[in-house]
Amino acid sequence: MLTLSGDPTYDLLATLALAIVVITTVAALFMQTPYGRFADSKWGVSLDSRLGWFLMELPASITFLVTFSFGPHRFEPYPLVLLFVWCCHYANRGFLMPLFMRVPKGQKGSFSLMVVTIGWVVTSLHGYLNARWATTFHADTSVGWLTDPRFVVGAITYYVAMGFNLHADHVLRTLRTKDEIARGERHYRMPRGGLFEYVTNASYFAELVAWSGFALMTWSPGGLFILGISLANLVPRAIATHRWYREKFPDYPTQRKILVPFVW
Ligand code: NDP
Repeated sequence: MLTLSGDPTYDLLATLALAIVVITTVAALFMQTPYGRFADSKWGVSLDSRLGWFLMELPASITFLVTFSFGPHRFEPYPLVLLFVWCCHYANRGFLMPLFMRVPKGQKGSFSLMVVTIGWVVTSLHGYLNARWATTFHADTSVGWLTDPRFVVGAITYYVAMGFNLHADHVLRTLRTKDEIARGERHYRMPRGGLFEYVTNASYFAELVAWSGFALMTWSPGGLFILGISLANLVPRAIATHRWYREKFPDYPTQRKILVPFVW
């Protein structure tokens, strides 16, 4: 078992989190997470994507807020700043993103219930590990941490990348018109503009940079966990998505990389 905090519950759950990252990394070599364009009925019941995303992300908000509310340092400056960051992030990912997704009317669900249930383990651990560390174990919860170079560089990285992530999600969402959605038409089009001029997976690239910034600014096992699990999920999906676009669009721009601008 990892020894990170000296608290047996925290260390046990952090060890479980590490095991989940390893298992996900291996599993993702053999299959794509079944939702969206990679939905597959062989994995059983599927939900409407909006409901699937909402349910899957909900534990991140609940476990964070509950754990936070018991933390001995919860009213100190750094935990309060993290609370703000968390609430903004999950207001978007857990509530606004599902609410605004353009899901064609009347089509059968494309978000596997299996993804939701496995996702619950991940999002619950994510909320717990981050809230408990910030309010109980973080070495410095004073205003001093907010001027530490790790926090400053991490926070800037996180916010800039989240700006790109929101933009990329907006581009993808608006590739389908509201009329098409109302008619139940599920079109896929080629995204353009912003980071999409450089990479196929603009939202994933920005997401991974944002979690790198988050890991730096929180300097915590929870930060490393969400970065690790995001890499395990998104790198293989990015490869499959890039392949999918090249097959679907014969005129797909050849200079567009998979995930990292100018590199890969
Ligand atoms: P996708 O790009 O697969 O889908 C986002 C939405 O856009 C869906 O409604 C999808 O429709 C639609 N869409 C995508 N491509 C097109 C296209 N070419 N034409 C028309 N519509 C399109 O993103 P994800 O759902 O995988 O991710 C959403 C957000 O969640 C991203 O910001 C991502 O970074 C983040 N995420 C984070 C993870 C993590 O581990 N941290 C894991 C997964 C996602 P449809 O559903 O019909 O395909």
